[in-house]
Amino acid sequence: LVLYCCEAIAYAEYTIYKDPKQPLNRRIKDLMSRMSLEEKIGQMTQIERSVASSEVMKKYYIGSVLGGGGSVPGQQASPEAWIDTVNEFQKGSLSTRLGIPMIYGIDALHGHNNVYNATIFPHNIGLGATRDPQLVKKIGAATALELRATGIPYTFAPCIAVCRDPRWGRCYESYSEDPKVVQTMTEIILGLQGDIPANSQKGVPYVAGKEKVAACAKHYVGDGGTTKGINANNTVTSKHELLSIHMPPYYNSIIKGVSTIMVSYSSWNGIKMHANRDLVTGFLKNTLRFRGFVISDMEGIDQMTSPPHANYTYSILAGVNAGIDMIMVPFNYTEFIDGLTFLVKNNFIPMTRIDDAVKRILRVKFIMGLFEDPLADYSMTKYLGCQEHRELAREAVRKSLVLLKNGESADEALIPLSKKASKILVAGTHADNIGNQCGGWTIEWQGRSGNITHGTTILNAIKDTVDPKTEVVFNENPDTEYVKSNDFFYAIVVVGEPPYAETYGDSLNLTIPDRGQSIITNVCGSVKCVVVLITGRPVVIQPYIAQIDALVAGWLPGTEGQGVADVLFGNYGFTGKLPHTWFKNVDQLPMNFGDLDYDPLFPFGYGLTTEPIKAN
Ligand code: BGC
Repeated sequence: LVLYCCEAIAYAEYTIYKDPKQPLNRRIKDLMSRMSLEEKIGQMTQIERSVASSEVMKKYYIGSVLGGGGSVPGQQASPEAWIDTVNEFQKGSLSTRLGIPMIYGIDALHGHNNVYNATIFPHNIGLGATRDPQLVKKIGAATALELRATGIPYTFAPCIAVCRDPRWGRCYESYSEDPKVVQTMTEIILGLQGDIPANSQKGVPYVAGKEKVAACAKHYVGDGGTTKGINANNTVTSKHELLSIHMPPYYNSIIKGVSTIMVSYSSWNGIKMHANRDLVTGFLKNTLRFRGFVISDMEGIDQMTSPPHANYTYSILAGVNAGIDMIMVPFNYTEFIDGLTFLVKNNFIPMTRIDDAVKRILRVKFIMGLFEDPLADYSMTKYLGCQEHRELAREAVRKSLVLLKNGESADEALIPLSKKASKILVAGTHADNIGNQCGGWTIEWQGRSGNITHGTTILNAIKDTVDPKTEVVFNENPDTEYVKSNDFFYAIVVVGEPPYAETYGDSLNLTIPDRGQSIITNVCGSVKCVVVLITGRPVVIQPYIAQIDALVAGWLPGTEGQGVADVLFGNYGFTGKLPHTWFKNVDQLPMNFGDLDYDPLFPFGYGLTTEPIKAN
């Protein structure tokens, strides 16, 4: 009798969806059959951490939370503090009737960039210059570990935009103007999520357990093709061009099991991508058979009207019916939930559409093992900013630098620089500035100049690299007199763009800010000089090129400035190749290789090489 009782109890408690031994589709089906409309709509809702709490998670059955730097109390929150916050939200979700775990997502775009002390890797433009997909895969794996170190299982990366115009403020988030280069770089997805098993079905997401995270390919599609590079604007192209230039990286991402895809703010030929049912449902889900979930961009559905949020009910209708599964609301969540509920109850949105969305979201959560292991512990905090990851970032910096000029001829080559010069000058706004080195999306959304996180500035790296007897003089903004009156052997000038992100980075003139130009002129007119450009894209350099002895595109290298000194002083050779065409003047833009009137300053793929010096 005792035995019988226990079996009966065990049987009563048994639920298919909670059993990891059950096939995925059975678990999804079982769970779906138990869910109310309210619970389903909750799964589709992603809110911002500043409006989240365990009570809110529970009350509204919220499926996901996002949040990074701007809203973290105390910018220097420890990994343990991050874990505690994420777990608190998770406990709210787990205490609901069905206990469906939430998924926390963040923009980890070049390392876990919202978190103080994380390893910051070069932005994607620099990684594109490496032409090294295996390196990028390792960066994905390191980023996944650093995310898990803070209890976060989901990143809104990689950005697989094909930037066709450097005037775009997000050009640095793009690996290349060439779809083929971007395609190879989707290898980062395997680093983030893990290698997909050989027998996996095309389009089905894959995340290999607790050391990996769900990735998000973005922004679908054509974000890098807008007119004049204006952010979130209109991409005017033929269907053929859309499919052959902007779409290819999505094919690779889907084959590599990417879990989620984010829709672009931009329009294609006047139609907002957030409302484009043909491309989201028709092409992505039906033709390409993508089985993960489609997420909106932040307040992306609001922007469907002009002004934004003018008719939110319409926006929800158009966005959800287009095929968006999870909506990054992320603040006015009750308005979203009420609106979507109204639309479903009144048959404006069919229940089959809601079920498709929820099925996809649950599929990702099941595959990730979130149901079995929803809470993070402190066992992985050691990975945040660890030495091994910093070494990897340093390697990436070395390989990302592109040598554009090195003397007028090989005999006059200035690089590799001597480590034994008696006295050298280091100048420029970006020589001793971690914030400038990292660019946007670092600690804060827009990034910030100054000592914003732990790392090695280029100046300190130079000091560590040269002979102890070499005098390294730093003068951020020297005048000509000063340069001439000192007996410098040569100068290293490090200048570039201030940090920026998204629309704030859109630029029609692409000039280096004033001080950078005068620093180049003051220094390079007076002494032999190397100019290292810390920029998110090609900038106007032709007017200065004759004065400059050696020119390096340094992109936005991140926290590990030693990588720059490694190649300048010949511990390693230069190998990087331009991922984007370098224009002569902005009137030529947009200009991409293959154009009939292609007449660049430095063509796509250009990059001089140097040999490492032994025992330099
Ligand atoms: C950006 C996305 C980002 C999202 C969440 C948006 O403004 O366009 O790339 O993932 O914010 O932070």
